[in-house]
Parts: sequence; structure tokens; C-alpha cells
Amino acid sequence: MLTNDQLDRWDRENFFHPSTHLAQHARGESPNRIVRTASGVYIEDRDGNRLLDAFAGLYCVNVGYGRPEIAEAIADQARELAYYHAYVGHGTEASITLAKMVLDRAPKTMSKVYFGLGGSDANETNIKLIWYYNNILGRPEKKKIISRWRGYHGSGLMTGSLTGLAAFHNKFDLPLSQVIHTEAPYYYRRPDKAMSEAEFTRHCVAELEALIAREGADTIAAFIGEPVLGTGGIVPPPEGYWPAIQAVLDRHDILLVADEVVTGFGRLGTMMGSDHYGMRPDLITIAKGLTSAYAPLSGSIVGEKMWAVLERGTDENGPIGHGWTYSAHPIGAAAGVANLKLIDSLGLVENAGTVGAYLNARMQDALGGHPHVGEVRGEGMLCAVELVRDRDTTTFFDASEKTAPRVVAEMLKSGVIARAMPQGDIIGFAPPLCLTREEADIVVDKTVAAVKAVL
Ligand code: PLP
Repeated sequence: MLTNDQLDRWDRENFFHPSTHLAQHARGESPNRIVRTASGVYIEDRDGNRLLDAFAGLYCVNVGYGRPEIAEAIADQARELAYYHAYVGHGTEASITLAKMVLDRAPKTMSKVYFGLGGSDANETNIKLIWYYNNILGRPEKKKIISRWRGYHGSGLMTGSLTGLAAFHNKFDLPLSQVIHTEAPYYYRRPDKAMSEAEFTRHCVAELEALIAREGADTIAAFIGEPVLGTGGIVPPPEGYWPAIQAVLDRHDILLVADEVVTGFGRLGTMMGSDHYGMRPDLITIAKGLTSAYAPLSGSIVGEKMWAVLERGTDENGPIGHGWTYSAHPIGAAAGVANLKLIDSLGLVENAGTVGAYLNARMQDALGGHPHVGEVRGEGMLCAVELVRDRDTTTFFDASEKTAPRVVAEMLKSGVIARAMPQGDIIGFAPPLCLTREEADIVVDKTVAAVKAVL
């Protein structure tokens, strides 16, 4: 085993970390928690500190850590068949089984699932399929994709463009020109405090209509959105939002991509977020909860309407020119099968609904009236606490004050991991779906103590 000294030095000398202040890390100024082991909702670092992970890694370890059922499924698969590809119709029992299990859990209008590795590549696949679809339909000009400010869809070239957070564009020459952004459905930050939720929904719809009118519906292929904005601040949509958006898209023949990388497989207390909000997507992006991150695997679930055109396209043009070496990797697929079985047998979708509601209610009770808490919001096993300088005037802190990061650092000292969301002073919670009420109590108590200590 490496000594602590070696770990620190080799890390700094060799390892390029994602989403990290590179210079600070190289100087040893950024936190570098090195994790050794984990079980249930707890992780343990190299110094033996045990921390309750109230963000499930990056909202992905949905069944909790250390599940032997998944570890054994992965080991069995690796021994039997570590790899075979899925090109030109090849497959494995694990990938075929998982495809069936995914479709059984998806809305009835979905037809097939394409497996990738992570949420970003699944969304890249979605955009390519959308462009292919419109080319086959003979409308090559219908290509632009609408995304929302504060949406998060990955950090590739196209998906980083779809992401509506400045930090993911800065100095990368993004967004690409085919992407256009519309208003975030963020009621707490509505432009006019006098607006009711229903009025704000009408405002978002009017903004979308205006964008479509400006650009021309015949140039717009699709709209992509997370059922609940995740990385942009954990923001559930205002009343009636999705049905109203859906009606606009239908009217202009614009496809809907539901990015369910966070919400898929139970996080909102329903199997899929699309079901939860009455969305009728043409494509659904899945990743994180598909394997609970025990192995990398993602998926693009394709609806019947698109599937028929894709099939026609290959009759006209030959095999579809899209594939990764690791598409439908058998080890990821085996992890996915074991994971979805576990979600069912442990009743984790229901638990996310009931314990998630408990977590949100307790957080609201404990912090809803605090002078520096503007809003406590959430849905299922997602919760956010938005900090403000002045709740009466909705004045925010300056980013340079690092208010949410300071609260999160204070929480860490008391053994709970939450996430300072990247834009705004928002403390995010997305615990494993197996969280108990007792564990939810710990999360709330430590959050309250940290908010009071810092503010
Ligand atoms: N879409 C959503 C909604 C996400 O939250 C994320 C990651 O957090 C992604 C896509 C990108 O997934 P990945 O990081 O696996 O590429």
C-alpha cells in the first residue's frame, strides 16, 4: 500500500483531475480526499474518517456502497466473458437482459436502448440520432437544439454546449453554433416576484415560443431538459411546466429529449422522472442510476417514432455509422442487471419517495425560516438549500465570499458530505436511495449546525 506521502506526491505529479483548480491542486491547496472504502451511505478515507455521503458520489451510487450482489455479478461476468463487442448485431446475455429490463421500466412509447459509457456520450449519441432522423426525413435544415440555461448535459463538445452553465463554456469556445438556450424554469429566481407559479410557467413558455419564432421552427430539431434541473441548482419545475412545454414542442414538430441521467431509476420516487412530470420524450438519456456507478454504463432510449425512421435510414444508407468499442460493455451490463434487481427487491424507488419527502420536510422545518436561507426545495431524494444575503429582498452573496463552499466545508468537519452546486450559493443533497430516516436526521442536523456556524 502507498504511504500518505507517496499518495500526495504521485497524485500531484501525475494525475490530471476533472473539474479541479489545477494550479491550486498542484500547490497542495485544494482538498484531496483519497477514499479507501465505503459501505451503505458511508465512505471512509485513507485516514480512517467516516463520512456520510449525502451526495451519493456524484448523485450516482443510488443503491449505496458495498453491495455484494453487484460486486459478485461483476466478478462472475469478468471471469466468464470480460468483453465482447456489440457491433454488427453481436451481443451478450448481460446486455440483452439489461436492454429488456430498461425497456420494461421506460414509458411504453419507447422502443430500443443504445448503450454507451456515461451521460455525456449518451447525449452525444442522442444529438447524432436527431440529426440523422431529420436528414432521413429530408429536412436537413432542422438541426438546432434548444437547451435551458442552468441545464447540465455533460462536458463533451456538443454536450458541453448544451450545458447552460458558464463555467463549462469559459475558454473552451463553447457553445457550438447549433445550440440555443432558453430560460431556466427557476421559480425562486423569477424575473418578477409578483408572478405566481402558473404565471411563471406561462412566462417560460412565452420565452420558448419567442425563441422558436426568432429562429424558425423549421431550423429547430429538439429540446433537451432534465425533469428536475440538477447541477444547475436542484430546481424542480414550476406547476404545469412540462405539459405546457410539451404542447409547444408538439405544435412545432420539435423532439423532446428527457435527460434522466440523475432522475432515472428512482431518484424522484418514481421509476423515471418523465413519468413523474407527464413528459412524453422521444429520447431518454440514462446513466448514473443504471448501474449505481458500480461500472460505467449509459443509455439512449429511443422512442417508437424515431426508431421507425432510423430503421428506414439503414435500409436506404447501410449500417448506422455510430458506435463505441465499449458500447454495451458486458461488465457494465452485468452491473446494471444486478443493480436494477436490487432496486426492485429493496423497494428503493418507494424509499426515495418516502424518506426523500421526510428529508425535505425536515430540512424545510429546520432551515426554512433562517434569515440567510432563501429557499429549501426538492423532490424525492433531491434537496437543495439556497443561501441568500437577505431573504426579504432576495439579495445574493458575492461568489467571491464562497458562502456555500464554507458551509459545505463546515459540514465535512462534522462528517457529512453535501455539494456546493457550481452556480449560486446552493447546498445540494442527493443521497443514496437507501437512506434511512435516522440518516436523514443526521444530514439535517449537521446542515443546520453548519449553516448556523457560518452565517
Ligand atoms: N446529464 C445530466 C443530467 C447529468 O447530471 C450529467 C452528469 O452529472 C450528465 C448528463 C453527464 O454525465 P457523465 O458525467 O456521466 O458524462
